[in-house]
Amino acid sequence: MKSYPFGSTSVSVPVIGQGTWYIDSGDRKAAVAALRRGIELGMTHIDTAEMYGDAELVIAEAMAGQRDQVFLVSKVLPSNASRKGTIAACERSLRRLKTDYLDCYLLHWRGSYPLADTVAAFEELVRAGKIRSWGVSNFDADDLAEMLDVAGEGKIACNQVLYHLKERAIEHAVIPWCEKHKVAVVAYSPFGHDDFPAPKSKAGEVLQQIAKAHGATPRQVALAFLTRKSTVFAIPKASTAEHAAENAAAGDFSLSESEIAVLDRAFPRGERPRSLPML
Ligand code: NAP
Repeated sequence: MKSYPFGSTSVSVPVIGQGTWYIDSGDRKAAVAALRRGIELGMTHIDTAEMYGDAELVIAEAMAGQRDQVFLVSKVLPSNASRKGTIAACERSLRRLKTDYLDCYLLHWRGSYPLADTVAAFEELVRAGKIRSWGVSNFDADDLAEMLDVAGEGKIACNQVLYHLKERAIEHAVIPWCEKHKVAVVAYSPFGHDDFPAPKSKAGEVLQQIAKAHGATPRQVALAFLTRKSTVFAIPKASTAEHAAENAAAGDFSLSESEIAVLDRAFPRGERPRSLPML
């Protein structure tokens, strides 16, 4: 599994990690097994949020006995992101996750509390050893610039944003901004949540041809395309060990320049939208 420095932090994080939205909605035992298999195969970046119901409890079970292997990320809801509320939300997440620290803590999306209040709370949590770094999610380039003014260079570890073959809006301004300021980009819903290109569609056929040439699967090609730059990480969610294994294997291969060009044409990035798309 390839891994790269996570933004301006000195921590090396695998290019493919594991999402957990709705992981608590099906077979709990299978979900725990999927996460454990994923960790075993190097997908040690695990993403969750206070918003994801019981997902934090499922992760606690999967992480038992191997907390130090995991790069654990959770998120505070904007409605809780006041100075006091952020700290309380983090402490609740730590209890549910049965751990005493998070590797990274994110503001889930921008809400009405001043960014300065949330940053003050994040910095207090860093000083207390409860989080090792912090970042944001669903921030467009102008939001990032405001956050930079509040927090200063080298503080925002990552920006977690929607990014999949059919939704490449972040390539216009977010990725360039993040590269310039050493902020890791984390691609959420890398399979489009439930909108992966159909095999019989024109673009889906292109994906299949490239996959065939690598002895890989279309989903592995999609993940390799999204993480073709060392500044971008992806966090697919899988509820079975088989899916987790398929996703992990994507962290071991790269596409050629010409394959990237073919995919770029098959899934054009389109015009820059007025606001950043999010789920
Ligand atoms: P996703 O990862 O794009 O897609 C998940 C879907 O793909 C599930 O139906 C899953 O099925 C299926 N799948 C996964 N691996 C597969 C494989 N190898 N073969 C066939 N199907 C496979 O969707 P997502 O859950 O929306 O996004 C990933 C993560 O990003 C979330 O879980 C969450 O952690 C994060 N996220 C963050 C935000 C934010 O605002 N920051 C928003 C959305 C998501 P099974 O479950 O059956 O395996």
